[in-house]
Amino acid sequence: MKKVVCPDCGGNLMIEYLYQYGLQHKVSSTGRILSRTKKVDGGPLNDCILYCPACRRNFDDEEYSMTCDYIRLGINTEDEDHV
Ligand SMILES: [Zn+2]
Repeated sequence: MKKVVCPDCGGNLMIEYLYQYGLQHKVSSTGRILSRTKKVDGGPLNDCILYCPACRRNFDDEEYSMTCDYIRLGINTEDEDHV
């Protein structure tokens, strides 16, 4: 099985899931926005970044695919003849 590592430096990859959060501020009756905040979880953004922490290489969406808990790199040299 082909190793799923950084094609540039051979390092292990990292995936970062993006979540969205909201910061809620209470507005007083005078209209002042109060500094006390409440963090609300807005849920996942259905987006993630695959990157190599060693050489800071970022992977584009076309460069990899994700199935369940597995990453597959789409950089396939054998498939290069289809244009
Ligand atoms: Zn790398």
